[in-house]
Amino acid sequence: NLLLAGRLAIVTGGGSGIGRAVCSIFAREGAKLAVVDLNKNSAEETVALLPQPSNHRAYSTNVALSAEVNSMVSQVQKDFGEVPSVAVHSAGIIKDSLFLHMKEQDFDDVIDVNLKGTFLVNQSLASVMSKANLPDCSIVNISSIIGKCGNIGQMNYAASKAGVIGMTKTAAKELAKYNIRVNAVLPGFIATPMTDQVPENIKQRIATMIPCKRMGTPEEIAEVCAFLASPRSSYMTGAAVEVTGGFNF
Ligand code: NAD
Repeated sequence: NLLLAGRLAIVTGGGSGIGRAVCSIFAREGAKLAVVDLNKNSAEETVALLPQPSNHRAYSTNVALSAEVNSMVSQVQKDFGEVPSVAVHSAGIIKDSLFLHMKEQDFDDVIDVNLKGTFLVNQSLASVMSKANLPDCSIVNISSIIGKCGNIGQMNYAASKAGVIGMTKTAAKELAKYNIRVNAVLPGFIATPMTDQVPENIKQRIATMIPCKRMGTPEEIAEVCAFLASPRSSYMTGAAVEVTGGFNF
């Protein structure tokens, strides 16, 4: 009883961290993966790590550019000969600094990738999914608990991730009539290359603030994504699901 048997899934940010774990758990659950990342090598590396690499393909795409997103979505359909019915949008960046010192460019860059990227990826997917008349399509957007709570040094990031929640809830309302569900996952503090740079002593201090007393693993996020992507969550849309070990400031 695989959750995603035979389903074609697009995973952005699939070259690293949470996106890579999503690819591996979705493959375990029977999905065919279109692994999308700005970094082509890391997307190809993810494909090579999957059990049957020939079932999957890597794509190099900047999610902040509409032309690249649209051509990736149509190329995926050509390559697999079908419309994707599942997507996890995990591509994202941080450019941290205190509010009073934050550069306009760092604000724009984070909003471009995290917020506009979510708009472009969701719109492009919704456009092809809505025409395909499929019984259950599911889009999972990776937001962050920071989008609800804010965080020192992350004005740009918190704004982008709060925006992703608003987008997800709006998309859910507009797309339900096409059998497209749209949900957001709000991870807490997860051990990935994005959080690797955090000094060990700070990591330990944050861990003491988490009720579960540890960072999460990318697989613990990916398992929730698999549930939201599958028909087992058929009555869930517009949800913002916190996966934080109890951490919510
Ligand atoms: P990561 O840096 O390991 O992976 C992010 C991936 O996105 C990278 O492979 C990167 O190349 C890709 N990417 C960046 N910009 C892109 C672009 N413009 N177009 C296409 N791909 C692009 O980070 P992660 O920790 O796996 O983060 C994945 C998602 O989870 C992000 O949206 C992040 O904000 C979110 N998140 C992470 C944490 C955490 O603690 N790690 C917590 C909450 C939310």
